[in-house]
Amino acid sequence: MLKFNFKKLKFMRSLKVRIFLIVFIVGLIPSIIVRQAILQNYEERAVSLRTSDVQTQLKILANHLITYHYLQDTSSEVIDAELNMLANLYDGRVLIINNNLRVVKDTYGISEGKTIISEEVIRCMKGENTSKYDPENGYIEMTIPIMETLEVQETGKNPVKNDVVSGVMLTSVSTDYITTTLEILSRKALVVEVMVVLAIFIVSVLASFALVKPFEKITEALSQVKEGYTNDPISVSDCLETEHIGDAVNEVLSRMKVLDDSRQEFVSNVSHELKTPITSIKVLADSLRAQENVPIELYQEFMDDIAEEIDREDKIINDLLALVKMDRTASDLNISQVDINLLVELIMKRLRPIAVKRDIELVYESIRPVTAAVDEVKMTLVISNLVENAIKYNKEHGWVKVTLDADHQFFTIEVADSGIGIPADSLDHVYERFYRVDKSHSREIGGTGLGLAITRGAILMHRGSIKAVSEEGEGTTFTVKIPLTYIAVS
Ligand code: ADP
Repeated sequence: MLKFNFKKLKFMRSLKVRIFLIVFIVGLIPSIIVRQAILQNYEERAVSLRTSDVQTQLKILANHLITYHYLQDTSSEVIDAELNMLANLYDGRVLIINNNLRVVKDTYGISEGKTIISEEVIRCMKGENTSKYDPENGYIEMTIPIMETLEVQETGKNPVKNDVVSGVMLTSVSTDYITTTLEILSRKALVVEVMVVLAIFIVSVLASFALVKPFEKITEALSQVKEGYTNDPISVSDCLETEHIGDAVNEVLSRMKVLDDSRQEFVSNVSHELKTPITSIKVLADSLRAQENVPIELYQEFMDDIAEEIDREDKIINDLLALVKMDRTASDLNISQVDINLLVELIMKRLRPIAVKRDIELVYESIRPVTAAVDEVKMTLVISNLVENAIKYNKEHGWVKVTLDADHQFFTIEVADSGIGIPADSLDHVYERFYRVDKSHSREIGGTGLGLAITRGAILMHRGSIKAVSEEGEGTTFTVKIPLTYIAVS
């Protein structure tokens, strides 16, 4: 089947054109229907009026025919005159047919003596009025029975009056005047309709322009934002839809701004963090150069400081690289079955010397053996960062307790310490890049402020979660929950 594809017509994709067409068609169809209905109604009414008019005249005439015994003797001039008058009045033809179906009178004078056996005449003979409108040839044909009251005398009974059909009047009257009036009306209606179409056209054009205007405004506002003229929120409150579009765009813009701000903040933080060790190195080197005959001990001491700053720079760069890796997709994960108990034990063994230095007790409690599908390198990073922090932000002679547990779905690692704790308002921020509760203290103990950001990134890549509870001065507990099996999302 041939199918017309409107989408292929480029102009049909314009909202303006669509609104114009809808309003125009919706306006046009009723006006055409109303015009047609009015004309048809007039025609029906005119035909029915004429029919009943003529029928009344015919009935009167039928009575006269009986009175003058016209069916038996057509010599009555009075009746002839009446018949001719009726025929002239309605621009038609009258035929009088007797009960033998023979035409006794034809006002055209051509069918007299002929027999007429039409359905209408037969029906009329049975006492029925008929009428038929033929719009094509412009006439109404009708029949009415000529009724006669006869007295019937049955033997032994009183005479009974009986109405019998003695003949039929077959009449056709012209409807030319109806057709003429219809033509005049139709012409007038056409003029009105042309005016209505013009009005609808103008209304459609105005409606299409008015309804599309808010969308044009929003496009203009958007292109202004695109071209960078303004950062003001978009507001086109002409209609609800454009208001919603404006709100949605504003939301996207503000989200982009937040992203942009955080990116800028990150870049400035990175530059600052990277610059600090370099500034120290420069100061140390300059002060050595500025002095003559520097004692070797001082050289040694400054060189140690310079080496320390270089280590720090190296740590920041390594942490940044680790963080960038976390930002990549989870497909970078190198998943394998890892014995988590063994992993925690190894990490704690590696970190024990730092704990011992500050006389911090390191306790490990494994509730059950756990093997999970994880990226070993990243999981090592997670656990060591948490344990390292628990040691770093602890008090002398404190303790750190690591607990490993699992259920049928997840394993949990809890790292609790007896350290300085985290203030409640900082608890949500510790995962942010470069966030440190006490900058100078963190710097002193070699922190970069990136550890927990890296930790959280790695946990999220494993579809796990991390949460912390802390009491200032009492200690902190970080709880990490990771699924035992890794389900990659395609
Ligand atoms: P940093 O390299 O400074 O340790 P992190 O991202 O690992 O950076 O931690 C962010 C901040 O959170 C730290 O500077 C510290 O103030 C706080 N913090 C992290 N772990 C602990 C903890 N166990 N006890 C107290 N404070 C902590």
